Amino acid sequence: MSRRALVTGAGRGIGRAIAVELGRAGHHVVVNYQSDHASARETCELVVREGGAATPWACDVRDPDAVQSGLEALAAADPTPISILVNNAGIVRDAPFPALDHEAWTAVTRTTLDGFFNVTQPLVMSMVRKRWGRIVNIASISGVIGNRGQVNYSAAKAGLIGATRSLALELARRNVTVNAVAPGLIETDMTRDLPVDVLLQRIPMRRLGKPEEVAALVGFLVSDAAAYITGQVVGINGGLA
Ligand code: NDP
Repeated sequence: MSRRALVTGAGRGIGRAIAVELGRAGHHVVVNYQSDHASARETCELVVREGGAATPWACDVRDPDAVQSGLEALAAADPTPISILVNNAGIVRDAPFPALDHEAWTAVTRTTLDGFFNVTQPLVMSMVRKRWGRIVNIASISGVIGNRGQVNYSAAKAGLIGATRSLALELARRNVTVNAVAPGLIETDMTRDLPVDVLLQRIPMRRLGKPEEVAALVGFLVSDAAAYITGQVVGINGGLA
């Protein structure tokens, strides 16, 4: 069944792979991104090539007014409610804690937590009314077991996991599932400059994950087949945790 989906941060990386996966399932995907128009356009082309439909949506998920007016414009252009939401937009600003400044703390926590709230809150009631919805929040292994140099990022992702669990309880009786996916190290721009050789020694599978592997998991969680899975944090990390 074709549905309307929204993936935040879908211009590149994991978000793009998720958008393409949802396109393959025949969905109409709203491809949110912040500023890289060319990449987002490419994502849309890939979604269409896989058999879906795509609408690009440039919007900073940290900005509640911009999100609200953007969602209203999307609804005006196509009244089909969004029933699949993947909160994927996220950034890192790593530093050892004594060197972590307020800007790095705020940028990371606002993108993950305000982004989740700003986008999810306005979309939930239409899922509740339809008695069908899927929300997947892209967390991180860092939010589960912590990571040096990522106090801001770990806090944001752990917060997102808490929000996932609580919202799942609120929405369970309405057939709206809410789950988190916690990837380990995945090959994207975010991990491009990391010392991969050193990190590989810590990963039992001795490789980074691929965005498509995360996307396949998300594709399952938003499907009808995953109707009984809610409030879960699903790791995908090559055995790292
Ligand atoms: P990338 O850096 O490759 O891509 C980030 C995407 O998010 C881009 O499309 C970017 O838009 C968009 N974005 C960033 N900030 C905003 C914002 N404020 N509003 C809207 N869009 C925004 O990231 P990844 O694909 O690596 O990561 C995706 C998610 O997965 C993140 O939440 C990340 O924390 C998580 N994750 C990643 C892991 C990894 O190893 N890569 C591991 C665990 C979790 P634009 O292109 O316009 O800049």
